[in-house]
Amino acid sequence: MSRLIVVSNRVSLPDEHGSSPPGGLAVALNAALRRKGGLWMGWSGKVQAEEQPAALMEKEVGGITYALTDLSQKDLEDYYYGFTNQVLWPIFHNRADLAEYSEARESAYYRVNGLFADQLEHVLRTDDVIWVHDYHLIPLAEKLQQRGHKNRIGFFLHTPWPPADILFTLPNYNTLLRGLSCYDLVGFHTENDRNNFAECLRRQELGDLHGDDCRAYGKEFRCGVFPISIDTAAFASLAGRGDDLQESFCRLAGFDVAIGVDRLDYSKGIDQRIVAFNRFLRSNKHRMRKTVLLQITPKSRDKIPAYQAMQKDVAELVGRVDGELGSVGWVPVHYINQSLGQPELASLYRRARVGLVTPFRDGMNLVAKEYVAAQDPRDPGVLVLSRFAGAASELGEAILVNPYDGEDMARAIETALDMRRDERIRRWTPMMERLRAHDVYRWCDDFLSSLDPPRGSMPSLE
Ligand code: UDP
Repeated sequence: MSRLIVVSNRVSLPDEHGSSPPGGLAVALNAALRRKGGLWMGWSGKVQAEEQPAALMEKEVGGITYALTDLSQKDLEDYYYGFTNQVLWPIFHNRADLAEYSEARESAYYRVNGLFADQLEHVLRTDDVIWVHDYHLIPLAEKLQQRGHKNRIGFFLHTPWPPADILFTLPNYNTLLRGLSCYDLVGFHTENDRNNFAECLRRQELGDLHGDDCRAYGKEFRCGVFPISIDTAAFASLAGRGDDLQESFCRLAGFDVAIGVDRLDYSKGIDQRIVAFNRFLRSNKHRMRKTVLLQITPKSRDKIPAYQAMQKDVAELVGRVDGELGSVGWVPVHYINQSLGQPELASLYRRARVGLVTPFRDGMNLVAKEYVAAQDPRDPGVLVLSRFAGAASELGEAILVNPYDGEDMARAIETALDMRRDERIRRWTPMMERLRAHDVYRWCDDFLSSLDPPRGSMPSLE
């Protein structure tokens, strides 16, 4: 059996006892690596001291090898904070207006992908199967092929793929499209993302897509839809425990709770959600002093100006709403600007009558799936979900909303809080069944079996 080589910008290293970091992705990839053997390669999170890149550092934890490379300060600034976070992220989330392109950033992106390819060469065997993750590493297959490697190689994009008119705002976007055509399999979360990709190829007469089969730049490859998921069973049982939350629950006792959980990011629609909650309260006076929004928002990318500005804006907005509407004994918006652990989150999801997941754009949004998985089957809460989250294509029984329309969101909160138990169970049950059938292990297996060589193409042993 071929070894599996996982490559991602950051590597999710287990702790010294071999437990994976929280989050289904790391658990599922580590399980696949344990089964198939191989290694996980990526940036160590450290800045290299020397001018020359240090050798790949291999570390074995829990039977899995992690191969880590350092990055120089300049690469970190131009490739990571620059091109990936401030050019590709906004463009892939339909915010071309926030992209801060420069040639220096773009060339750092291709240089670091070359560095990853150079480092991988030291550990790569000819029959290894490579699985590359996310927009940081789109050019990696091409860089490896330029170095003579012919390994089977797949790519999965964890963000959305943008519509053609948005991608075309990126200078040299065709180099990215060409990079994707060097993979054997390209995976997207949704049909919509795959259609956007196909549209980019067609509009430039670069190639075409029929079903899963794609032709572009003289290459043939497959494009599949693989909606990522969570470890549904583990999450549901975590939520059922609810044993370590006495203190948090005391503060929420007696209130109907709506919960929002999002990294502080402009794609998540946090401000607009708080404004909609304010609107909901003002038009439902009987809900005042009885309802709270618990908004859990860990800081993210706080070296980047757009994120720093948002940090200030959200805090001010929460202060305004709480100051104008709140009273002694009732704080309408509880804002937690820190990261919570998964056990606490799972219990809070279960405690909340409404899960508010209202991004302007999101590849999948795992919080939506976690909220569903955490509910009490006898008395589930209601998911209010943006139409523009990838999760909406699988969780159609949620109340689907337009996150740009405050009135729509305010009405959805009202509908969710008024919803009878039988209707809540009727909506929740099929969503949960789907999540149980399509968990993150299934996602991982589906991708890897699609990446396997087609039957009949294996070399003969005779
Ligand atoms: N999360 C967490 N602690 C927090 C907030 C979020 O562990 O305080 C986790 C959350 O449980 C989910 C992930 O972060 O698994 C967020 O994933 P999602 O796809 O929703 O958004 P992303 O941050 O990847 O854009």
